[in-house]
Amino acid sequence: MSVPLIELRSISKRYGEGAAELMALKTIDLRIEAGEFVAIMGPSGSGKSTAMNILGCLDTPTGGQYLFKGARVETLSRDQRARLRRRYLGFVFQGFNLLARTSAKENVELPLLYRGDSAHDRARAAAQALSDVGLAGWETHTPGELSGGQQQRVAIARAIVTQPAVVLADEPTGNLDTRRSHEIMGLLMALNRDHGITVLMVTHEPDMAAYAHRMVHFLDGRIAKDAVNPTPTTEAPASALSETT
Ligand code: ADP
Repeated sequence: MSVPLIELRSISKRYGEGAAELMALKTIDLRIEAGEFVAIMGPSGSGKSTAMNILGCLDTPTGGQYLFKGARVETLSRDQRARLRRRYLGFVFQGFNLLARTSAKENVELPLLYRGDSAHDRARAAAQALSDVGLAGWETHTPGELSGGQQQRVAIARAIVTQPAVVLADEPTGNLDTRRSHEIMGLLMALNRDHGITVLMVTHEPDMAAYAHRMVHFLDGRIAKDAVNPTPTTEAPASALSETT
């Protein structure tokens, strides 16, 4: 059997000690193949963010193994983990997390700047990424001049400009109205389908999770359900697109 892109083996995460000890994750097992589109769901406090932080190499588990392309992540140094993150992972957040007085193009170029790419390469890649998210022509606009949906597109362009294997999206539509939410989901769906990017997305909204091909439900630090979605949504319902907000 081929090596999965991502494998969590008996991953646990403990916060605090003694009376304050809390097991945020209790021996999680999860395999994700390259090219999957997975929705992570579950009530508040069930461990979704903790799992995403571990998957994103932003935090380390207290037990178990995380294998990324077969490499044992917890054995890597902090620098090696940061390199893995920069090379393979892109992040999208609920609050967009863009630099306010900085143009769309410069926001998108940031990960390439950290990586040491030349100004010429940065400009070319940022223009392409902005075009991929439908924002060609908006390069010089700052976040304040863009709608919420457009800001999230810039954030997605920033996440894909390094051509990552995986995009980790934490409530990417949490700050958007229904219509913009469906537009963002359409974009994530297209990036998964056309660019082969693996998408892991936390969402509370069943309508948005419905775009994913697989749904993983967390409950009390465990995976309570992990099921294929037999009929993923492929386009926004007409009712959502007719919304005028
Ligand atoms: P979710 O994302 O599903 O809302 P979290 O992963 O944020 O859940 O939290 C899981 C549990 O871990 C919760 O009980 C939360 O209070 C606890 N927790 C999360 N982060 C910390 C932390 N840094 N310190 C202590 N407890 C934490």
